[in-house]
Amino acid sequence: MASEDEINLLVIVVDVNPLWWGQQAQREAEFTLSKCLDAVMVMGNSHMAMTRTNKLAVIASHCQDSHFLYPMKNWGSSDGATDDASCSGDGKYELLSVTNNVIAEEMRNIMLKTEIKGNSTATLLAGSLAKALCYIHRVSKELAVGQEMKSRILVVKASEDCALQYMNFMNVIFAAQKQNILIDACVLDSDSGLLQQACDITGGLYLKIPQKVALAQYLLWVFLPDTEQRSQLVLPPPAHVDYRAACFCHQNLIEIGYVCSVCLSIFCKFSPICSTCQTAFKIQLPQMVKPKKKKLKQSI
Ligand SMILES: [Zn+2]
Ligand SMILES: [Zn+2]
Repeated sequence: MASEDEINLLVIVVDVNPLWWGQQAQREAEFTLSKCLDAVMVMGNSHMAMTRTNKLAVIASHCQDSHFLYPMKNWGSSDGATDDASCSGDGKYELLSVTNNVIAEEMRNIMLKTEIKGNSTATLLAGSLAKALCYIHRVSKELAVGQEMKSRILVVKASEDCALQYMNFMNVIFAAQKQNILIDACVLDSDSGLLQQACDITGGLYLKIPQKVALAQYLLWVFLPDTEQRSQLVLPPPAHVDYRAACFCHQNLIEIGYVCSVCLSIFCKFSPICSTCQTAFKIQLPQMVKPKKKKLKQSI
């Protein structure tokens, strides 16, 4: 069992891609971005209410940047603010309402600032995950001596995968694996091969929810329990993982391709020079050169 003083940090990354949510509002008026954020707040509040030492961060992943919804940037130290709220004699309630207000306010700011410019329509998920890892790293550096921390990331994913982010995404996944950080994914719409790999490699859960309106229930049932509790629960069966990689030349997903033996870059077509590390590969010499070599040996 985990000790009571162990800190449990949950970072929720929410896909707030305005194009996808705009289309979604037309498809299903009953499930909009604000409904999704309500579910995320329920999840965040439940996590914080479970134990006094549980901590929360929420990052909005936009198509232009990633933005911290909670804790706010201008709070000198998130620890100080958290302690103030929980010492108010009112139990946890005050902290929960503070959290929800901050998240709603920051979200409003992001949406007011949004301008869609031409070609940047994919959610910058890899960047948001990297931000989450950096935040976890920072919090772990600020721990008191002897204090332990467990952390995990939950991605609430809406829009489609972007193969252009394949490289960055894989780097983030392996960094998370190395730090023992679990990545969970709750997918609202189309399956995400990148997140399937992220969950499989880091030991997290991947779930494409069958009903978007029930998001809050899925979050509380599947993603609120930590790894120790999960082994005792009956959870949805593990998803099939799409392990195809994107080629570095065209960002197409391929099953069979060429891999550079030096830097492990993947290509869908053979090229004599690796475009990533500039290694020149030796090509088999034409047949007619061979007899010359034999003659040389004989003369020696
Ligand atoms: Zn290619
Ligand atoms: Zn190479």
